[in-house]
Amino acid sequence: MPERIDDLVVSATTALTAAADEAALEAWRVAYLGRSGRVTQILRSLAGLPPEERRAAGAAANQAKTSLEAALAAREAAVRGASLERALEQGRIDVTLPGRPYGLGRLHPTTQMVREICDAFAGMGFAVVEGPEVEWDYYNFEALNIPKDHPARDMWDTIWVSPEGPRAEQPMLMRTHTSPMQVRVMEASGGGPVRVVVPGKCYRYEATDATHESMFYQVEGLAVDVGISMADLKGTLYEFARRIFGEQRRVRYRCDYFPFVEPGVEMSIDCFACNGTGCRTCKQSGWIEILGAGMVHPEVLRRQGYDPEVFTGFAFGMGPERVAMLRHGIDDIRLFYANDFRFLQQF
Ligand SMILES: [Zn+2]
Repeated sequence: MPERIDDLVVSATTALTAAADEAALEAWRVAYLGRSGRVTQILRSLAGLPPEERRAAGAAANQAKTSLEAALAAREAAVRGASLERALEQGRIDVTLPGRPYGLGRLHPTTQMVREICDAFAGMGFAVVEGPEVEWDYYNFEALNIPKDHPARDMWDTIWVSPEGPRAEQPMLMRTHTSPMQVRVMEASGGGPVRVVVPGKCYRYEATDATHESMFYQVEGLAVDVGISMADLKGTLYEFARRIFGEQRRVRYRCDYFPFVEPGVEMSIDCFACNGTGCRTCKQSGWIEILGAGMVHPEVLRRQGYDPEVFTGFAFGMGPERVAMLRHGIDDIRLFYANDFRFLQQF
């Protein structure tokens, strides 16, 4: 009998050393010290021994039980300590590492350009106003000297909202330019002087390529007052060019055609990349076209209640994406609205 107890202690101790987590320890406890465990069975079997053997065997068995209980307690403490150690190791935080930066938002390159352009004119006394992107035919075309069947309508491939319907005589469309706001501003002015810039989105029904988008921005400008002349147009736009493209810029005006101005011009600046000697940016010409402009057509003034013999004005319009493309050397307008972070984060 004493040998059996010794064997049991050896095998129990070996098994205990192998128990590496709480579940294994509990299984071990049940197997050896539980109600039907092997140590308990030995203690129960003592009753069947002769009295002279029972005493020695009982002492040995109880000692074995006590020492295994102590071993279990020690092993439990060791296992718990190890698992705590492991958890601390896995959850370790290096508080000296730099924090994770939040992604800061920023303004879209078009928004930046629009604001810069508007600021330049605001500094010359122009108010900034905005208007509807869904527009009546009347404001987009009719009131700007572009009647139905006028060939100039071909210049604005239009997205129609309601070409026919309840108000077929007054179709609705996505504005093709910001110029309808010229009409709305004059209409609202009560015949008084006007000086505004109008930033906003425009829409064209056309295939896109590196220089054409179906949605793009324009910044429109209008000044109407007594005695405004072509010299005011030239001086204002020259000052604008210097503010946006640098003090050294020179400008050039050439005749152009827009139905709602007379005369119409396009303004170019001397190339800021090569100072006019010819390069890729200016397509070797030394000049870069920036905007269209002109003196407000007398008929447009008359329609809005101005006497064109007294009131005159000038108007202009430009594409801020084009200005940004020139400034940053961007070669494809579609990049602006492709929502590609790699592009947008550069500005
Ligand atoms: Zn150049």
